[in-house]
Amino acid sequence: MTSQEVVRRIAQLRKQIAEYDYWYYVKDSPRVPDAEYDKLFRELQTLEEQHPELRSADSPSQRVGGKPLDMFQPVRHAVPMLSIRTETDISDAGAIAFDARVRKELGLSESDAPVEYVCELKFDGLAINLRYEQGVLVQAATRGDGETGEDVTQNIRTIRQIPWRLEGGCPSVLEVRGEVYMRRDDFEKYNERQRELGLPTLVNPRNGAAGSIRQLDPALAARRPLKFFVYGLGEKVEGWEWRKTHKEELDQLDAWRFPVNHECRVVQGAQGLVEFHRRIAEKRDQLPFDIDGVVYKVNKIELQEKLGFVSREPRWAVAHKFPAEEQITVVHDIDIQVGRTGKLTPVAKLEPVFVGGTTVSNATLHNEDETRRKDVRIGDTVIVRRAGDVIPEVVGVVIDQRPANTGEPFDLFKRLHGKCPVCGSRIVREEGEADWRCTGGLFCPAQRMQALLHFASRRAMDIEGLGYKLAEQLVDGGIVSTPADLYKLGMSVLADLDRMGEKSALNLLEAIEHSKKTTLARFIYALGIRNVGEATAKDLARHFGKLESLMKADEESLQQVPDVGPVVAQSITAFFSESHNIEVVKALRAHGVHWVEHEAQAVRESQFSGKIFVLTGTLATMTREQAKEKLETLGAKVSGSVSKKTDYVVAGAEAGSKLEKAHELGVAVLDEQQFLALLERV
Ligand code: NAD
Repeated sequence: MTSQEVVRRIAQLRKQIAEYDYWYYVKDSPRVPDAEYDKLFRELQTLEEQHPELRSADSPSQRVGGKPLDMFQPVRHAVPMLSIRTETDISDAGAIAFDARVRKELGLSESDAPVEYVCELKFDGLAINLRYEQGVLVQAATRGDGETGEDVTQNIRTIRQIPWRLEGGCPSVLEVRGEVYMRRDDFEKYNERQRELGLPTLVNPRNGAAGSIRQLDPALAARRPLKFFVYGLGEKVEGWEWRKTHKEELDQLDAWRFPVNHECRVVQGAQGLVEFHRRIAEKRDQLPFDIDGVVYKVNKIELQEKLGFVSREPRWAVAHKFPAEEQITVVHDIDIQVGRTGKLTPVAKLEPVFVGGTTVSNATLHNEDETRRKDVRIGDTVIVRRAGDVIPEVVGVVIDQRPANTGEPFDLFKRLHGKCPVCGSRIVREEGEADWRCTGGLFCPAQRMQALLHFASRRAMDIEGLGYKLAEQLVDGGIVSTPADLYKLGMSVLADLDRMGEKSALNLLEAIEHSKKTTLARFIYALGIRNVGEATAKDLARHFGKLESLMKADEESLQQVPDVGPVVAQSITAFFSESHNIEVVKALRAHGVHWVEHEAQAVRESQFSGKIFVLTGTLATMTREQAKEKLETLGAKVSGSVSKKTDYVVAGAEAGSKLEKAHELGVAVLDEQQFLALLERV
């Protein structure tokens, strides 16, 4: 590079990095993955080291973090909160280089003993300084630009792991530094709920933590599941015997009941650092939270003081990174996958990229709303995240890199012409739901396994012996496509299957034969109509009496059935208006599946209407299931547990804790005779 080119490149890098810093530190909304940012940052640092004459105090390389937000009270740090030099060489060389630098600065020769280090995890969250006066938490502040942070005490107080008061002796002023973070599973759960509600999701746990702490409503911070780890001290006032090593300081913090991460280790020399880095890299995926590397710190405080600082970083610590969990790549296409339950998920087909330890070429976009909110389009450059065992996902678009000819905003229905890409059945998106679904539940190959297992389950057609392994063989072997095919199975096919002897084949055939005689309620339930559980199936059977009447019912008449609202009604009509499903129903009946039909029977108004019963113990004259059915036709509700709301407990022989509870709460108890007498009276 000519010196002119160097000047230009440095200016370019400073501008670009300052822009990224703003979005990352001030807006909590990164524009590029960290790896991309680190690359530019190291390039700038290297150029500035090679050309000291071009150094400038306003370069982002000389600064820590970002400007504090005006909406918070500024807090001037008693001791600046610095950055840590990032070692981007993720191989062993990164650790070896740090040890060599430390030894050189300390003037150690080869014959001198290894330097002792503390190795910690580099938590990916938000740095916080906690100030305790006379043992009481008085202030919590973000790092801000290192000199001045933001007062976030209210929000920090919502984190249960942070003590408000310290027990035992402590200095008059204690400043504790650590990281607020969000666990990966909490982050996933939070996002899952947001997606269900159609609300914006968090990009990654780091942004989740930073965004929660740096907003004005403590109630909102309290709802976000935040956690904390300590890793050091701030101001050290006189009049207290401070510890001599960093590890002892951590132990003291632990004694004051701050959460110290237990992966922290004391090691000797470069070899110890290398081993720690390797060991943690291996278990990184199993950790419940994100880390982007490890941190090495010289253990002896005296040596730390001797080493001192350069501009924004201490010389006695370094962050040694791991392979990035976020990377940039290009979306070649958007596919729609059909899940086992018929859910349609848009999936980005990517230019393969190495991220989070593997090569990723597909990443989920979750659903239509998310795809639109992020505005992911074919041809876009996107940030892909793969952390732990979580499936890779697209977290955002690098808008500056959108080509001029990208397509339109994503429209799932239009893309599929309204049809399931696997079976061609109609697709629907229910009111208040974020997902589109295939309505061909009984027919769609993607849903076969689920449909079959549900159909055969105990409360549905009750086909004993048809478990997951067998269903898998039947489906994968192309023997069964729909539940109707079960009734065509013969001895010869079954006996050929893995681990299926003649005896079990016979038993299965018998169970299948046996299932032909069923009830309408079980049959409706067995169809696996979305939102139609066992109780609804019973209500529908009771109300319509005949399958044909149910199949013909419109949404309005369906809503006459107790507990059937617009969403359930819509699911039922969607199911029966799909001809593929009708064919399967017809085939089932043609194979002899039958039940006793009766006239439509509204739930009778009786003295039982709305009363809550609990059944316990064994009845001599009927099964509990029959008793339940009987009560339900009389308008009563049958619950599984006794509470103050329970009207009657029916106690058969050997009734146990439920009976005790009934006595305790003063709920009326009926024995079998009394119960039968009561039934007779209606
Ligand atoms: P840093 O890498 O300089 O490290 C210092 C921070 O590490 C501390 O403030 C603390 O919050 C944290 N930390 C975690 N565990 C620690 C431990 N055990 N001991 C001490 N500190 C620990 O952090 P930084 O200055 O905030 O910024 C650099 C990082 O931020 C880089 O990883 C960079 O990739 C990322 N960044 C990304 C963008 C972007 O646009 N993607 C922009 C700016 C910065």
